[in-house]
Amino acid sequence: MLDVRSLGRKPGSMKQLHRTVVTAERIGLEMVGIPVGAQVEMELTLQSVSEGVLVIGTIAAPLDGECSRCLEPFTSDLELHVTELFAYPDSATEQTTEEDEIHRMVDDFIDLEPVVIDAVGLDLPMQPLCEPDCAGLCPECGVRMAIAGSGHGHEILDPRWAGLANFAADGDAVQDPAPSSDSTLAGHNGAASKTEEK
Ligand SMILES: [Zn+2]
Ligand SMILES: [Zn+2]
Repeated sequence: MLDVRSLGRKPGSMKQLHRTVVTAERIGLEMVGIPVGAQVEMELTLQSVSEGVLVIGTIAAPLDGECSRCLEPFTSDLELHVTELFAYPDSATEQTTEEDEIHRMVDDFIDLEPVVIDAVGLDLPMQPLCEPDCAGLCPECGVRMAIAGSGHGHEILDPRWAGLANFAADGDAVQDPAPSSDSTLAGHNGAASKTEEK
């Protein structure tokens, strides 16, 4: 909760604010989020406007997650920008909007927690990656391609092609006598040279 009494209600008055909050519970999605006990850094500008207090700034926090491609745990950093209006109690905005559309001030206080939770939830990818170009897992054996290397692969024969492969092997077998016919030819040559000697 931020106490904004010192900001005053004169439209245009501004206040810079730096806050560090330690998370009491994990914020985010199942696959990626801000862990428990992490420091969330908030650099905010509070600006008094006619209907309430406008909160503009950045939120930075560490992330941990599990890569959706290679299933390895990873850590990274989150930085996101927020612009949120908190309506004054009894302002026209407060009376003409729903609470889930525009945040409300509670007396002279602003609760940033739902802002952080919503912003983080919207910013995080549904399918997080350890690296933008994560090569994932080998579809055949499940090894991580990052470990296996780009040369990793399998000679997989589709059952529909297995018959063709046998056919090709038979073809090789048929051609096998060719070298022996060469040797026969050599034998003929030998005979020919013998006849020349006579
Ligand atoms: Zn990965
Ligand atoms: Zn493989």
